[in-house]
Amino acid sequence: HHTHAPLADLTDEALAGLLADQRAAYEEVAVRGLSLDVTRGKPSTAQLDLSDALLTLPTSTRDRSGTDVRNYGGLQGLPELREIFAELLGVDLAQLIAGNNSSLTMMRDCLVDLLLFGGVDSPRPWKDEERVTFVCPVPGYDRHFALLEELGIDMVTVPMTEHGPDVDAVRALVADDPSVKGMWLVPTYANPTGRTTSQEVAAELTAMVTAAPDFKIFWDNAYALHHLAETQTKTADVLSLASAAGNPHRAILFASTSKITYAGAGVAFLASSQEQVAWYLAHLGKGSIGPDKVNHLRHAEFFGDADGVRAHMRAHAEIIAPKFAAVDEVLSRRLGGQEIATWNTPEGGYFVNLDIVPGTASRVVALAKEVGLALTPAGASFPYGEDPRDENIRLAPTMPPLEEVREAMDVVATCVLLATAEKLTE
Ligand code: PLP
Repeated sequence: HHTHAPLADLTDEALAGLLADQRAAYEEVAVRGLSLDVTRGKPSTAQLDLSDALLTLPTSTRDRSGTDVRNYGGLQGLPELREIFAELLGVDLAQLIAGNNSSLTMMRDCLVDLLLFGGVDSPRPWKDEERVTFVCPVPGYDRHFALLEELGIDMVTVPMTEHGPDVDAVRALVADDPSVKGMWLVPTYANPTGRTTSQEVAAELTAMVTAAPDFKIFWDNAYALHHLAETQTKTADVLSLASAAGNPHRAILFASTSKITYAGAGVAFLASSQEQVAWYLAHLGKGSIGPDKVNHLRHAEFFGDADGVRAHMRAHAEIIAPKFAAVDEVLSRRLGGQEIATWNTPEGGYFVNLDIVPGTASRVVALAKEVGLALTPAGASFPYGEDPRDENIRLAPTMPPLEEVREAMDVVATCVLLATAEKLTE
């Protein structure tokens, strides 16, 4: 973790000088009249353009078995598309559902069904429990936390380490308290830390003793295929691990093509034990006669096979890897060596996690806003929006053009230096 020794060791006079310098630099930024935004992990227009062949697909109205995709039916999704993603996600075809465009909606479906009806291994519906609690690795994905908050599910946090969530901390929470019913986990290139959960950590999470008999790991593999580097980090095979550990219904895997094809018109996936897949479909079937199979078919035609998806992901990386490189380059140049900031250089995913001097993150976000740079609100990556140390900022560099990413990071650095100087001269 960071220390602040070099800046903190400055004399009062030197610190006053530093503060004056940073104020002047900030005033220079202010007069530029910028309008920049690095708040959300959205694909850029150039990335969306990569999938525009979808707009003239499918060429057929029938899938390979002859079913008319324009009609109702096929609740589990088109087999030829599921086949491609079963290979990519490392799950059995029978265990995989292809749904509509949002995996977040599938996560919500699961939570609501667990609350209303209970799961395949629940003693009763979760709504009939006195309390339901989820373990949340932090920093994490803001929408996961907002969803739990809306549903009245309590949140307790564990640190996200280099190899995934802190297993000892998780174990301590789940071992004796039956109200702890589940946990979030973004196993590959996590939002926002970029960390990947190791095989060992995944094995421990799937095998650990839980007081709740129906403990669920919401394994949100949103960035499974989203490599930035040549090394293509593999995700642990959570379903096999869970099943081998005697907890076959513990994990529910989610993924989508939101950041593969179109964020607003992709395909979402859910995979779990066959029994849990049947449970999900039984509830889904009361509210749907089938997913958008036209979309499934055009995706299957567009990709052809799993290698088609892999090649497509390389085209994404070509567009966004330079943006991630720019973030690291500007932050290193402006903030490096002073021990006032740490950030990661992710090998995939959509985010850079920036940790700065405790007590300055919200000040940095406010300073940036005043000069025309929108940053994700400080604390967004924590339950209830509360970063207990006020030190964490999530940067999302994929959406703006490269030059704007550079300019935005320069502004971030200026604001971090000013807020740090202010803090040290308090
Ligand atoms: N899960 C994570 C970790 C994400 O970062 C995001 C989007 O930012 C989503 C899920 C949303 O997925 P979808 O578009 O499939 O609803």
